[in-house]
Amino acid sequence: MPLAKPHMDLHALRQQFPILAREVHGNPLIYFDNANTAQKPAAAIAAVDDFYRRHNANVARAVHTLSEEATTLYEEARAKVAALIGAASANEVVLTTGTTLAINLVAQGWLRPRLQPGDEIVVSHMEHHANIVPWQLLCAERGAHLKVAPIHDDGTLDLPGLLALLGPRTRLVGLAHVSNVLGSINPVAEVARHTRAAGIPLLVDGSQALPHFPVDVQALGCDFYAFTGHKLFAPTGTGALWGRYELLDAMSPVIGGGEMIESVSFEGTIYAAPPRRFEAGTPNIAGFVGLAAAIDWLRAQDQPALRAHEDALGERLRAGLRGFPGIRFIGEAAQRVSVASFLLEGAHATDLAVLLDLEGIAVRSGQHCAHPLLQRYGVGATLRASLAFYNTADEVDRFLAALEKVRGML
Ligand code: PMP
Repeated sequence: MPLAKPHMDLHALRQQFPILAREVHGNPLIYFDNANTAQKPAAAIAAVDDFYRRHNANVARAVHTLSEEATTLYEEARAKVAALIGAASANEVVLTTGTTLAINLVAQGWLRPRLQPGDEIVVSHMEHHANIVPWQLLCAERGAHLKVAPIHDDGTLDLPGLLALLGPRTRLVGLAHVSNVLGSINPVAEVARHTRAAGIPLLVDGSQALPHFPVDVQALGCDFYAFTGHKLFAPTGTGALWGRYELLDAMSPVIGGGEMIESVSFEGTIYAAPPRRFEAGTPNIAGFVGLAAAIDWLRAQDQPALRAHEDALGERLRAGLRGFPGIRFIGEAAQRVSVASFLLEGAHATDLAVLLDLEGIAVRSGQHCAHPLLQRYGVGATLRASLAFYNTADEVDRFLAALEKVRGML
């Protein structure tokens, strides 16, 4: 089976990501750390550059031409995010620094005023710290409880286990769309059917989903969806919180300052409507211009072809890894993206990552901001190779050969 469909010119696609031409320690770079952050197409880099060269001004504050241009570009980015994720309106999209801020906004703006002692929040055992710690902070303050939905050994969600935790005191469910360690794709639409029937808001952490497949928040049926731009081929410091408008409208502001108000007086301040209510201060305007360009770039591609290529690469990687004696995969769900976390018996993941770097290969080792998940598997660290559509079969083969070589050195 050919890896790339005939109409997908992988060489031409790679040329649009300038960094992929780099060498590291005298070797061609093999970038397999895409779940950590993804590389940027020249179109997104050029958009940031062009913004600073020709349009730089603050948004929504001045009537001069540059400020109007900057505001238009910033609002276009919001509209492009809305279209990307199928939001009903751009007003449902709060632009944030990333997933972490997006989830904290829901924790502090939605849940904090509503959470009573004895209430419950449900998350899964495979969450990133960004979808654990904001809830722990709230629980500690309010005397509420964080309940943890179990997962199976193969890295799939235990759906009946999660549903069994839902009860009259459940005030919110937080769930990763895709696990950054396991690669598992969670059955979000199915969870949403149950949470909606029970009247419980469902927040989905989409950080690792959008880089791999299209998402339609309305079709999913969730209530909040958070994602981060830098994993979506866009600049760091960008991301979004999508929420149903009535929920955003019922949320309290979290960060106070300029731009999030209608009027301010010492007698009383009137807050702006969403999304501005949650965007105090000067945003990362150039970053969002880059995000808009990255979204345009992505949507102009043959996305099913990218996905098919990436999935085939992921399978080639796993097939090759299975040949290593003493390999242990952490995460073997059938529904997954092209992320492989594993351990090799007798070799520490970080030692392997350091030696692979000398071969020009970027992978991540460690706990991947998911300590409870690694504790669940009783391991201190994994090596994680996470692929993107711009990776090649040759890179996978060279990675496997390099892994064999460096393992022999330990
Ligand atoms: N959730 C998941 C599943 C992630 O993989 C990450 C990034 N590693 C985050 C949340 C946090 O994203 P950010 O640091 O961009 O806010």
